[in-house]
Amino acid sequence: MVYKILAISVLLLLITGCATENTLNDGQADDVNVSLNRQNVGTSAHDFLSDDTYTSLLIEMVYVEGFDPQQSSISNLITFINNRTYKPDGVTVEKRSIASPGLETYSIQDIADIEMAERTHYNTEDQMTLWVYFSDGQASSNTETNVVLGTAYWNSSFVLFEDSIQSVSNGPFDPDRELLETTVITHEFGHLLGLTNLGTPMETEHEDEAHPKHCNNENCLMYWSSESSAGLENMINMSAAPELDNACLNDLLAHGGK
Ligand SMILES: [Zn+2]
Ligand SMILES: [Zn+2]
Repeated sequence: MVYKILAISVLLLLITGCATENTLNDGQADDVNVSLNRQNVGTSAHDFLSDDTYTSLLIEMVYVEGFDPQQSSISNLITFINNRTYKPDGVTVEKRSIASPGLETYSIQDIADIEMAERTHYNTEDQMTLWVYFSDGQASSNTETNVVLGTAYWNSSFVLFEDSIQSVSNGPFDPDRELLETTVITHEFGHLLGLTNLGTPMETEHEDEAHPKHCNNENCLMYWSSESSAGLENMINMSAAPELDNACLNDLLAHGGK
């Protein structure tokens, strides 16, 4: 029963933490290339979707030792990217570990500080870059009933709270870990693609009024609800992560994507 309650709270939170649009303290604003990758979530949607400026994508994936994602989850992200974006010169992943930064919990500013210290790749003339970080500690904004699993915080950056993901997946009444990781990773990347109404204009009205910057279709990847006991049951029994619905797909198509 304890597991079940925990799992329920997780589904709710999948989205609460995402799509932060706050302005973070930028430690190196004097570097033009660096500042290109420290803009608000969604502002690079067209750059990710099209090959107008950037013809390839380099994903810098960094995890704290012991908190690396499953390889299948990374493969699912690459498949998602190839299905939605034009990057004719390829999508590549550079993955490495770092030692724990040593905090018990992490604010988004802490997560941004780690990126500023560790990120080595920034956009070049024709290559887009993406930073994905897998944290060992939980989000400092967690409450007893709300656990944040992932957050997109800059235009080419998102974090997964892998410690939290591991603690609520693969248990007797938990979702499958690959399914949960894939859901959170592709959802956060969906925010970087400007979904929903977050930099990519809506072709039809489908933003969830109660949960801004999310889709109102409960079957869509970009959906997040605060009454998700039904959705929770679904996730536990699902065999694959949710996908984008037609409304979200049409938005991406109209904004330069596939
Ligand atoms: Zn979200
Ligand atoms: Zn949708």
